[in-house]
Amino acid sequence: MSIQFFGMPVSRGVAIGRAVLVASSRVDVAHYFIAAERVDDEIDRLRQARDTVATELGTLQRDLPEDAPAELSALLDVHLMLVHDETLTGAAKSWVIDRHYNAEWALSAQLEVLARQFDEMEDDYLRERKADLEQVVERMLRAMSRGPAGPAEQSATLSPRDFAGEDPLVLVANDIAPADMMRFKHSVFTGFITDVGGRTSHTAIVARSMDIPAVVGAREASRLVRPDDWIVVDGDAGIVIVDPSPIVLEEYRFRQRQSELERARLHRLRHTPSVTLDGQHVELLANIEQPSDAAGALEAGAVGVGLFRSEFLFMSRGDDLPGEEEQFEAYRDAVLAMRGLPVTIRTVDVGADKPLERMTVQELRHEHVLNPALGLRAIRWSLSEPGMFRQQLRAILRASAYGRVRILIPMVAHLSEVKLTLEALERARRQLDEAGHAYSQVDLGAMVEVPAAALSLGQFLRYFDFVSIGTNDLIQYTLAIDRADDAVSHLYDPWHPAVVGLIAGVIQRANAVGKGVSVCGEMAGDPAFTELLLAMGLRSFSMHPAQISSIKQRILRADTRRLAPALERVLAAENPQLEATRAFTSTLP
Ligand code: PEP
Ligand code: MG
Repeated sequence: MSIQFFGMPVSRGVAIGRAVLVASSRVDVAHYFIAAERVDDEIDRLRQARDTVATELGTLQRDLPEDAPAELSALLDVHLMLVHDETLTGAAKSWVIDRHYNAEWALSAQLEVLARQFDEMEDDYLRERKADLEQVVERMLRAMSRGPAGPAEQSATLSPRDFAGEDPLVLVANDIAPADMMRFKHSVFTGFITDVGGRTSHTAIVARSMDIPAVVGAREASRLVRPDDWIVVDGDAGIVIVDPSPIVLEEYRFRQRQSELERARLHRLRHTPSVTLDGQHVELLANIEQPSDAAGALEAGAVGVGLFRSEFLFMSRGDDLPGEEEQFEAYRDAVLAMRGLPVTIRTVDVGADKPLERMTVQELRHEHVLNPALGLRAIRWSLSEPGMFRQQLRAILRASAYGRVRILIPMVAHLSEVKLTLEALERARRQLDEAGHAYSQVDLGAMVEVPAAALSLGQFLRYFDFVSIGTNDLIQYTLAIDRADDAVSHLYDPWHPAVVGLIAGVIQRANAVGKGVSVCGEMAGDPAFTELLLAMGLRSFSMHPAQISSIKQRILRADTRRLAPALERVLAAENPQLEATRAFTSTLP
């Protein structure tokens, strides 16, 4: 029977496909598809994990002290029985063979299936055995993480035909770790649904960068949807329909075709210069996550990269973080791919909801720090790892020998951070001189993401060549709303008068002293804000390549001479959104 539920629409369009579930686990598990020739190896990894855990449990059982409670021995018996149960490892094997899931994913997928069966049991004793099953699986996952690693990188090259037949696939998960998102980036999914998350959680951002319809904060989705269910993801309205009726399906297929036609129409604008009706040139830049995204940026008509989120090079690597050489090659590749256009590389912004693997979200949330969004992230993290920071700065500087490079520092809040950054940059340059490496002049920019930076911008501007407003974080920190927490996502409001006022102030102050200013948060790629930002004096927008054409379309229709006078009213309004809708729509030709 068809069911329908709602979440937050975070990436436009309609996706229709079969559900693939990614279960959340207490152990940090990588999810990726393996190539056909790896199937036997992955099954071996499952077998080895099973045997290791059976031996561990056998040893524990044997070494139990004489006076140990009888329940303990009985419990170990249950665990041993579960380890050998065919419905666990045997069935997990089928996920590897039929779907080409990696061993960890297969095991946690099977845990999910069995856990649901346990939940439905009438008998209390049996129902409670679910916890034992979870512990056994956890042991096996840990055993796998100690054993030979799987070939995660292969996932990037797979196509649906390699593993799951011809049907399009929709990924359903409680949450998708940023590292998993990157693994799936060039993968096979046509839609994403998560139980948690908000408009600017990283699942949402990466989904938009992939131009794939997504709904987040759908609460019960991963519990209600079963593997292989047919699903419609309506990324415009935030609706998810499981097992749709033929009529509903036909309606959505029609909408899918319409939005493809609209995309094709907008795509034709990609080489049209981005100039308003009154002749104002507006720079449209791309946000990218890895060097291979640069090609898509050019193809979409971007005139440069306004934000290269370098932290994605650091994720899903365990302890093996990229060194100077590897980083240099990645930055150089992006620079070369942009063929002389500027590339703005942001120094690593890890922490909060983009943890390194060696600090899992759980660790960050519960063990090390209570509130990761306010903790050691972005420039704070870089300054706490000075060696790694200089290594990254050297790599970026070396890439500047191959094209136009700009460095962007995330989450600046204190002048002391600025001074330490300048010192680190100076030292990195000296080290390159000593080593005989070439580099060119690079502009240095600060992200304005913390209200403190916005409010004392004058002091910061002295030290920087340009600023870029990270509206995602600026909203989060101005309104005290964790951007990844769906429980407060209704309060995440880009139209809040305080937010709008801060953004206007930053743009005006930077323009007044002739320093470059752009917006690289999600507001830049949202057509609802284009006129507002133009009216504020913004002439540089950075966004996912997929959003460039629709923003350009609005710019081509805008007349800044008519927009500017309405700004005062919007800034003074109790409800800036309402006022902007009234004021700016009336300026359209
Ligand atoms: C922002 O905060 O607006 C931004 C662009 O940075 P990120 O989304 O990567 O935190
Ligand atoms: Mg940010």
